[in-house]
Amino acid sequence: MSLRDADPSVWDMIQREETRQVEGLELIASENYTSAAIQEAAGTVLTNKYAEGYPGRRYYGGCEFVDEVETLARDRVRELFGAEHANVQPHAGSQANMAAYMSVLKPGDTILAMDLAQGGHLTHGMHLNFSGQLYNVVHYGVREDDHRIDFDQVASLAKEHKPNMIVAGASAYPREIDHSKFADIARETGAKLMVDMAHYSGLVAGKVHNNPVPVADFVTTTTHKTLRGPRSGMVLCKEEYAKDVDRTVFPGLQGGPLMHIIAAKAVCFGEALQPSFQEYAKQVVSNAKTLAETLAAGGLRLMSGGTDNHLILTDVTSIDLTGKIAEKALDQAGITVNKNMIPYDQRKPLDPSGIRIGTAALTTRGMKEDEMQQVGQWILRVMKSADNDAEIEKVRGEIQEFARNFPVPGIK
Ligand SMILES: *Cc1c(COP(=O)(O)O)cnc(C)c1O
Repeated sequence: MSLRDADPSVWDMIQREETRQVEGLELIASENYTSAAIQEAAGTVLTNKYAEGYPGRRYYGGCEFVDEVETLARDRVRELFGAEHANVQPHAGSQANMAAYMSVLKPGDTILAMDLAQGGHLTHGMHLNFSGQLYNVVHYGVREDDHRIDFDQVASLAKEHKPNMIVAGASAYPREIDHSKFADIARETGAKLMVDMAHYSGLVAGKVHNNPVPVADFVTTTTHKTLRGPRSGMVLCKEEYAKDVDRTVFPGLQGGPLMHIIAAKAVCFGEALQPSFQEYAKQVVSNAKTLAETLAAGGLRLMSGGTDNHLILTDVTSIDLTGKIAEKALDQAGITVNKNMIPYDQRKPLDPSGIRIGTAALTTRGMKEDEMQQVGQWILRVMKSADNDAEIEKVRGEIQEFARNFPVPGIK
């Protein structure tokens, strides 16, 4: 029986979400649209299969086909990033980070990672997160004048605190990260280096950003952001850590892997190995630069003055708004973004000074520089009339008509 007949309530909710995705402009920097092939793989009978263990060493019978799927996913992703070992079982980015930490750290060990308030992630030691509870966390940040990672600070904190692990990578940092600088500091101070490329792994796969795999002990990522795969995570590492990572993921942290999602990851890695994915990654960055220029020309202050990647962090107090008000007004117009702290923010997380804007999803719909200029104008118009419902309604109508010309993969 089809979902529509079996459960009209859930079916209807999904229909409305499809319409929202088609009619709106998705600018959340951590989101993207998966291909129809990835959605199909994720929606298969592989969800029925228990496969605790790893290919060739499972705790359940009947794993011959899912073994092939997981082996293919691992082989493809090792080729994609040039990694010695891959574990594709983590359910999400947070579990991937937990696995990398727990494979070499003991509770109470010290990690040096980027401050959440300056662009880092919850799993980089936020006090309510497991990472902040289990480990002694020291945070680095960005310089106040140019909002770039302060490598002098990273080096001096590493010398002072002798961290067991240094964590590079961020969730709201609009610049390319120089992984080799982190590797030098880690080597000099005897720390392990973990690079969490969750946001920009698609840019690494597409060869527009430098690859951390050769210089890092561990590289973790989500698969659903710029990499454009199903919602999930993975750990890449040097061969010497392979056994520890595998043991930490299972049985350490998880039970049975999500084999339907691992199949979808295999499809994602296959797509990212195509030359067209490099074109996509280039276009994502070019679109972000165009959008950044449009917003700056309209009077918005951009953190670090621009972008090298898929995201823009902008201080909306520069046009007398707050992040919360800007997010709400844009949402009303069908433009989805998230409010975000900016470096050295004087405001609070629930109503910060900034919004974060990303181009990965719109680029998947086929939008290019011209469309980014148009989108930038709409963003400016809405923000400059944030208390004018009639004007926002007008923009919403224009966006609906415009967006329908750019199909969302998998939605007819
Ligand atoms: C998104 C993100 C994660 C976590 O991903 P989830 O899949 O939401 O658990 C981890 N690290 C960074 C840097 C991220 O941006």
